[in-house]
Amino acid sequence: MTGARCGRRSLSNAVSVVIVGGGHGGFQAAASLRAEGYDGSITIYGEEPHLPYQRPPLSKGMLLGKQEERHAILRPAEFYATQRIEVVRGRRIASLAELPPSDWVILATGARNRALPRDGVFYLRTLGETAEIKQRLADARDVAIIGGGFIGLEVAAAARALGKDVTVYEAGPRLMGRVVAPVVSDYFLAQHEARGVRVVLNSTAAPEADLIVAGIGVVPNDELAREAGLAVGNGIAVDEFLRTSDPRIFAIGDCAEYPNPYAGARVRLESVQNAVDQAACVARAICGRPAAYDAVPWFWSDQFDIHLQMTGIATGFDRTVTRGDVASNKFSVFYYRGGELRAVDSINRAAEHMTARKLIAARARVTPEQAADESFDLKSAILAG
Ligand SMILES: Cc1cc2nc3c(=O)[nH]c(=O)nc-3n(C[C@H](O)[C@H](O)[C@H](O)COP(=O)(O)OP(=O)(O)OC[C@H]3O[C@@H](n4cnc5c(N)ncnc54)[C@H](O)[C@@H]3O)c2cc1C
Repeated sequence: MTGARCGRRSLSNAVSVVIVGGGHGGFQAAASLRAEGYDGSITIYGEEPHLPYQRPPLSKGMLLGKQEERHAILRPAEFYATQRIEVVRGRRIASLAELPPSDWVILATGARNRALPRDGVFYLRTLGETAEIKQRLADARDVAIIGGGFIGLEVAAAARALGKDVTVYEAGPRLMGRVVAPVVSDYFLAQHEARGVRVVLNSTAAPEADLIVAGIGVVPNDELAREAGLAVGNGIAVDEFLRTSDPRIFAIGDCAEYPNPYAGARVRLESVQNAVDQAACVARAICGRPAAYDAVPWFWSDQFDIHLQMTGIATGFDRTVTRGDVASNKFSVFYYRGGELRAVDSINRAAEHMTARKLIAARARVTPEQAADESFDLKSAILAG
């Protein structure tokens, strides 16, 4: 891994990078390599028929008809031509042995939806699945959503906004229970119910409806790594430089399990931020500027007109503090573990979310009392570090 391999050098000195997976992470790795001055060949193999696209609009604007496929596509074909990035579409790689020889391989294979053992259930991850659900939504009178996580609730909100009779069935005792505090779950439950969504908690019922959509989590696409004998945990295992057990092979995004300094544990995250920032980190490493990956995690979800933004890793929290009035629909929840601020969820408070990212990055000391006190200037805590 040498800097001499990057920079604007002639192609005769160039090396090659092969990226498996043409999603958000795969695209960003290629784009970041060029932005870093990498001059060698770049090939992306993606099993989907489309150019790389972003998934957030799939469960939001696209179901509502406010956004179309072209809004999700990350860059037009000309971008790849001018950047000399070859995108091989519709090609599923079954073994790393299929790949042409290259200096570096980046696995960006993402994850796939966990499926229920029954027919007649639809899942949402791809453009094709979105088009199918959208079409069926148009004819459906009632819609059942299995799973009260982000995707299920976003689909529920879209279906309800389209005037459908919507019921969400959640196996756990609260919505988004794996990732948010009870105060946030309760708020979203009240907001969905106020808009006419029925929510059934603690339910593993197999509902009947004109349209049934399940959002019950994902499974990392780690088969390629397993087959190649690379270490795999909850996803493809990588070190702090995002290297697999073969140092020529990186893994990024939804498929990768990495040591996260904010969690103090190995985690696998499913977010645009994670895929994009890890891709940029790997591009820098290939260009001879390796650095441990330590970007602050953040995520968002839109349900109706509610904008939820999250930063940090809340897992294992032992205390939460609410800043602002829940009834005003604008508030943040601060998560503490052992007295340390670990994460912040902001509801309709975009500016506070940006400040919270900086607080988490700076490992700032904000006491629960300060967090709860709206007159306390959070930015002063960033400066105090
Ligand atoms: C409906 C939906 C809404 C979302 N909303 C948000 C949001 O609001 N905010 C947010 O932060 N995140 C959101 N996410 C999550 C975010 O989209 C993902 O975290 C992100 O796409 C991860 O990027 P990735 O490159 O790791 O995986 P992906 O974007 O999934 O790309 C992986 C690609 O690799 C391909 N592939 C897999 N195996 C192979 C193989 N063997 N050969 C060739 N190709 C292969 C797959 O087909 C896929 O195209 C959402 C996800 C979904 C599904």
